[in-house]
Order: sequence, then C-alpha cells, then structure tokens
Amino acid sequence: MKEHREELIKISITTFLLVLLITLQQTKILSLPFWGWLLLYLIPYLLIGWEVLREAAEKILHLDALDESFLMTVATIGALILGEYAEAVFVLLFFSVGELFEDIGADRSRKSISALMDLRPDRVSIERDGTLVTVSPEEAKIGEIMVISAGDRLPLDGVITEGSSALDTSALTGESLPASVQVGDAVAAGCINLSGALKVRITSSAAESTVAKILKLVEESAETKAKSETFIRRFAKVYTPIVVLLAVLLAILPSVLFGNPQKWITEALSLLVISCPCALVVSVPLAYFNGIGMASRRGILVKGAATVEELARLKTIVFDKTGTLTHGNFSVTVIHPNEVTETELLSLAALAESYSNHPISLSLKNACHSPLDRSRLGTAHEFSGEGISVEIDGKTVLVGNEKLMQRFSVDCTNDCDHSGTVLHVAIAQQYVGHIVIADEIKPSTPEAVQALRQSGIQTVMLTGDRLSVAKDVAEKVGIANFSAELLPADKVNKLEELMQIPANRPCAFVGDGINDAPVLLRADVGISMGTLGSDAAIEASDMILLNDNLQKIPLAIRLAQKTCRIVRQNIAFSLTVKFAVLLLALFGFSNLWIASFADVGVLVLAVLNSVRK
Ligand code: ADP
Ligand code: MG
Repeated sequence: MKEHREELIKISITTFLLVLLITLQQTKILSLPFWGWLLLYLIPYLLIGWEVLREAAEKILHLDALDESFLMTVATIGALILGEYAEAVFVLLFFSVGELFEDIGADRSRKSISALMDLRPDRVSIERDGTLVTVSPEEAKIGEIMVISAGDRLPLDGVITEGSSALDTSALTGESLPASVQVGDAVAAGCINLSGALKVRITSSAAESTVAKILKLVEESAETKAKSETFIRRFAKVYTPIVVLLAVLLAILPSVLFGNPQKWITEALSLLVISCPCALVVSVPLAYFNGIGMASRRGILVKGAATVEELARLKTIVFDKTGTLTHGNFSVTVIHPNEVTETELLSLAALAESYSNHPISLSLKNACHSPLDRSRLGTAHEFSGEGISVEIDGKTVLVGNEKLMQRFSVDCTNDCDHSGTVLHVAIAQQYVGHIVIADEIKPSTPEAVQALRQSGIQTVMLTGDRLSVAKDVAEKVGIANFSAELLPADKVNKLEELMQIPANRPCAFVGDGINDAPVLLRADVGISMGTLGSDAAIEASDMILLNDNLQKIPLAIRLAQKTCRIVRQNIAFSLTVKFAVLLLALFGFSNLWIASFADVGVLVLAVLNSVRK
C-alpha cells in the first residue's frame, strides 16, 4: 500500500472537498456567484485531474492518438462550461480510483512474479586462505569454495565438493519433492539446503546464475506485455475518433432539429466519458501478466502474451526424444571392442566426447571411471545428429552413428543385435568397435502424453536415433506418429511439413535445447526443458520448463486456457455494459454520474477478474 499512498491521499482530499462543496452549495449555507463556485471546484478538479489534463495536453501537442485522457479532458471541461462543476470533479475522481485499482492489480501480479527476487541471499560465506569470510555474492569469484549451512539458500550456482544433502528446489522448478545431492552434483542458486552442510565450488558469477537468468526472462516476458497492449491501443486509435465524431453529431444535430442545445451537449459529453475503453486497456494485459505469473510459480516460464494465446489453442505437440521423452542418462549396456580392450574403447570414446555437451557425451564420461588426459586432445568437430570427430594423439577419432561412419567412409557392418543406441568408434579410418547405450523413459512421460491426447492434442515424436530405438520408445510412451534417423535440419523439414496443414496449428515443439534451436525457433511455440544452461535454447524458445517433468506441459496449457477465458470474459463484459450505457445516452436517459459509475464499475470488476487465482 505504501507506493499508493500519494494517490490515496489525493483521492481522500478530493472526496472530502467535493462532499463539502456540494453540501455548501445545496444547503445554500454559502451563496456565491457562479465564478466563485467555479474557482472553488477548480481546487479539487485540478488536484485530482492534473495528471490527466497534462497527459491530454501532451498528446494534443504531439498530435498523438486520441486516447482516454483526451476523452476525460474534453468531457470534464465541457461539464465545467455547462456549470456541472461537481460532475466534472466526480468523473476525474472516479477515473483516479480506477487507475489506482489498475496499479494495485499490476503490483499484485508483479509481486507474485518477483517472489523469485527473494531467492537471492545477499550474503555468502567463502573460504579464503583457510578462514571463512562473508561477502556479497557479487564479490565472490568463480572457483572459490562457499560454505552452505543446513537451512540456508544457495546464493550462487556451483558444484558440490564436500558433503551431501537434500535440496528444496521448489522455488526454481515448482517441484515439491526434495532432491538429494552429493559430491560432484551441480546445484543452482535459489535452492534451499535442507539437511547437511555443503561445500560448493562456485561455477558462475552472480549475474550469470540460474536465478539471474530466470529473473531476466520473467522481466522480458513482463515487457512483452506491451505487445498485447498494442492491440488495445490500435483499437483505441480507431475507436476514439469515431466516438468523438458521434459526440459532435449528438451535440449538433438534435439541437438544430429539436432545440435545447444544453441538454444535447450534456448528452454528447457524457457519451465521451462513457466510451472510454479503460477497462479493456487495463484488464487485458493484466490478465496475461497474471497468467504468466501463475505459471512461473509452477516452474513454467512463458515469454509473452502471444505465447499464452497460442498455448491455449494448441493442436499438435512434437517431441524430441533424447532428454525430452527420455532422461538422456544413457547407461552403457554392451561394449564390443575390435583389437582393443573394453576399458580402452570406453575411455577412448569418453575422451573423444570431452568437448560435447550432448547427453550421450555426458553419459559416457560418467560411465568411464579412469581419469581422462585431456592434453592428448586436438581439434574437434561435432556433427549434429551424427557424432563427433576429434584429433587424439594426432589421429582422427570418430564416435557416432552409422551416418558419421558413412561420412568418413568407415565400414561399420557388424553382427551386433543388441537393441539400443549404437556408438561406433573408429581411429584413423580403422573401425575399433562399438558401444551400445540405453536410455530410460521418464516416468512422467506416458501420463503426460495421455493427458495431452485426451485434451484433443496430436502428439508426434522426431528423433535422430535409430528406427528400432525410436519405435520402442514411441510404443512405450503411446505416440503413434514418429520419424527416426533425422538430422536437425530434417527435423525442421518434418515440422514444416506438419505445419503446412492448417488443422495442425498452432504446433509446439518440445526439446531439451541440445542441437534443436532451429526447430524451437520454427515452431509456433518452442518449448525447452531443464536447460537453463543453454543460452541458445533460452533465446530460441517461447516457453521454458525449469525442470524436465513433461506433466508441466498439460498444466501450462490449462493455465493458458484459463487466462484466455478471463480475457474473453473481460472483453465481452466491458463491451456489453459500454454498449448498454451508450444506448441509454443516445436516447437521453443517461447522465455523467451514471456514465462514470458504469465505467469505473466495469473497470474494477474486470481488474478483479484478471487478477483472480
Ligand atoms: P534426438 O533426436 O534423439 O535428440 P540427436 O539429434 O541429438 O537425437 O542425435 C541423434 C543421434 O546422433 C544419436 O542417437 C547419436 O547416435 C548421434 N549423436 C549425436 N551427437 C552425438 C555425440 N556427441 N556423440 C555420439 N553420437 C552422437
Ligand atoms: Mg536432442
């Protein structure tokens, strides 16, 4: 409430002065000539209306669009000319009350979003020269060790070097179950350390931390609020001149025909006040803003109002396989070496994968227990959807699928009949064996796919993996429509094919953000999950899931539908009331009092509707 104190004081003083003046005037305690009353009424009029008048004057000077401040100004100056002093003040007073509501509503939404702001503690305990010092997160350097006691929030991102604990990640991911963490695990700022004390090596600066990225995103999505406003503004640009024209006609035509110009001028002025579209201007963006805020509290970041609209109408969802439908944590099931030992083959593959951040690479590094000597590595090149080629001890080592082997003309025919993703390994054009790895389907996947299908959304899977693996996964998760052995560019083509059929749109693509930025960009709604690490994916997506639970997608769709329903209700409601009062005004049954009551009433109800949970 503190931020609104000034407004509240203005409104209270104006109300008091208005009541006082009306009483004095009506009871004839004070008798003054008309200009005396005019001067007295001008005090509350200017007190409450100064901002609106100034805004209108600026708009006129800059030849800007005629908007609601213009309507208010013309209407109230007209009322003053007509001698309706109290009404003039009252219209502006109610307009201010409406604006106050708008501010409070916007603040509420903003607060719910910026609950995230509290996630960053402003102190951090760092080990320096064997002693513990407390500094601000900005002063801590990457590589330093911070000490996190049980119950504390992590101020910075890092990797655990000592201790194990359970983390409450709910603030970041909306996930209520604590996550257990141990040495070697990456932990993000904003999580709460629930049990044991931890030592954590800092891996990113305060400005680059996960929370900072989330905040930036949220702020950006709040900014795109302006995007949906332009629709309202465009509407006002057409609407206001029409209303002004109607008002002029209403003031002139009947006066000429029937006489009594004062009555018709009053009608025309009240027409101007009634037509103010402020309920729409205020409540529509607020509803989107509130919806986006609700989603962000559940670990779903939506980048703007346009995305909310698309989500609500979604027809098709296309899934990437690895890391999206599956965990992306491959376990090594078989190692078939030619002429080398199993351990040699595995550590060679793991070393070759050093530069990659593909889930396959991370899994190989985990599976390989011997230390990797990175000094043996030369230049590397990753072929998206195929694998990697890298110089090791001066020889070209290849790790990847059949496509990669064909690219380098390496013969990889073998009689291995194990199901799973096969990684072939070659040194200097010589085939040295293959490693079969298997991924696990996320437990949340089948249910999420089913929930989507039940709400009438088509599901599709695209993958770069082998057909046999793709078929197996598609069957298990319940997706009938799938394509396999696709390169990232093929995925874009497949998606475009789908999107050419209007019945399939809007169409979303869900990926883990590894090598699928082009598809994320191309889809109507690009959704990436659990990859706050990848800036490219964040850039390319319209929606980001902070954890990798696919159930968040049906949830996001439900929230979007609810938001759009509220917007539609508000538009219908305010236009109906507006139209009814307009009709009354046109037939001369309405006055400024009714007009401003109707407008503010609609505004308040629409705003309340917008910010409801
Ligand atoms: P998905 O469509 O399932 O996300 P990708 O397009 O990321 O799969 O990769 C497709 C295939 O390309 C993988 O199944 C794998 O055979 C091969 N591949 C991609 N990146 C690598 C890598 N870094 N190392 C080895 N193989 C890779
Ligand atoms: Mg992928």
